[in-house]
Amino acid sequence: MLDNKVAIVTGASSGIGRAIAKKMIEAGATVIGVARSEDKLQSVKEWLGENFHYKVADVSEYERALQVVREVYEEFGRIDILVNNAGITQDTLLARMDKEKWQKVIDVNLGGVFNYTKAALTYMMKQRSGVVINISSVVGLYGNAGQANYAASKAGIIGFTKSLAKEVGKRGIRAVAIAPGFIETPMTENIPENLKKLALESIPLGRFGQPDEVANVVVFLASDLASYITSTVIEVHGGLAF
Ligand code: NAP
Repeated sequence: MLDNKVAIVTGASSGIGRAIAKKMIEAGATVIGVARSEDKLQSVKEWLGENFHYKVADVSEYERALQVVREVYEEFGRIDILVNNAGITQDTLLARMDKEKWQKVIDVNLGGVFNYTKAALTYMMKQRSGVVINISSVVGLYGNAGQANYAASKAGIIGFTKSLAKEVGKRGIRAVAIAPGFIETPMTENIPENLKKLALESIPLGRFGQPDEVANVVVFLASDLASYITSTVIEVHGGLAF
């Protein structure tokens, strides 16, 4: 489905991003993973083999994003797919949220999407083709107490994606957001058991999602099977009701 495609996946050292890298490689792509931890990226490389490459970078750094994407273009000759997946949480009620917790989450989750999309767009416009897939969250659509910073960043991603789709559709570039629900990854493993139990009760499928179940959707959206899908949000949450 993705034979000979070159994909950049941010946050590919863990959880959903790592699963996206695996599924894309299985579908025939070459993947360049971006994250801060070289150790974790190296173990993904050992796991996935020669079609996985990586760049160590903090997605919130704009100049570094330009450099990383330029290097990928020079080394691989094209950029077909960008998956903006890197993200963090710094949860606390708004009444207790300091400016630092607000800014950090916005800079990484939303700033990172701007940085890598801006960098990759130059090459996609030249190619007159490309797909940008942004990992938002159900929290960006419906909100969640204790996550005003995260929700704002994830809602921002949706507005960004739809605007981008309108700007570049005629250049053969698609932009789509995915809003996962509760997926079992290191990000969610420390959520208190009582909250997990409560969340489970509102999921019709009766279980949390697995990273591969988000990755499958990413592969579909990145492929030509999704050639008429742009400017939309695909929810992957087992029917989670809010
Ligand atoms: P995770 O296991 O904690 O992985 C987060 C990834 O982002 C890691 O690879 C991490 O690598 C990278 N990252 C974090 N900050 C970064 C930075 N400043 N620069 C570069 N890379 C950075 O979390 P996950 O659950 O897989 O989450 C992946 C995405 O899905 C996030 O955007 C998250 O908001 C979204 N999501 C998750 C869920 C869920 O239930 N798990 C639900 C909805 C949406 P390093 O630490 O090595 O930098």
